[in-house]
Amino acid sequence: MHELSIAQGIVDIVGQYVPRERHETVRLVRIRVGDLAGVVPDSLAFCFTAVTAGTPMAGALLEIEHVPYTIRCTDCANASTTEPGLALCPRCGSTATTIVAGTELQVMTIDVDEETPEHS
Ligand SMILES: [Zn+2]
Repeated sequence: MHELSIAQGIVDIVGQYVPRERHETVRLVRIRVGDLAGVVPDSLAFCFTAVTAGTPMAGALLEIEHVPYTIRCTDCANASTTEPGLALCPRCGSTATTIVAGTELQVMTIDVDEETPEHS
């Protein structure tokens, strides 16, 4: 499953930025996923929960920001969001377009709980 390896990759990235002994303080991982990334957000969120279950990161949330597929026309300079994969400028019909957004698959922020657990 594609999403499962991506979820594991996200956990690996978190591991690079958050010391292992602090994994239990990870509350939220915010990612950006473009239309062209070929990721089903619901499936990715499910896989993230699955790969973190039973680990110190269990309970951490995955927040997915969707990035629409956007092209810019080199003929009329019009930028537009369009159907993923389509290279046609909706304004002038030119196919001389470049992809400016929509291929993202990035971890943006990792929120950790800075509070030390209270033992009262
Ligand atoms: Zn155009």
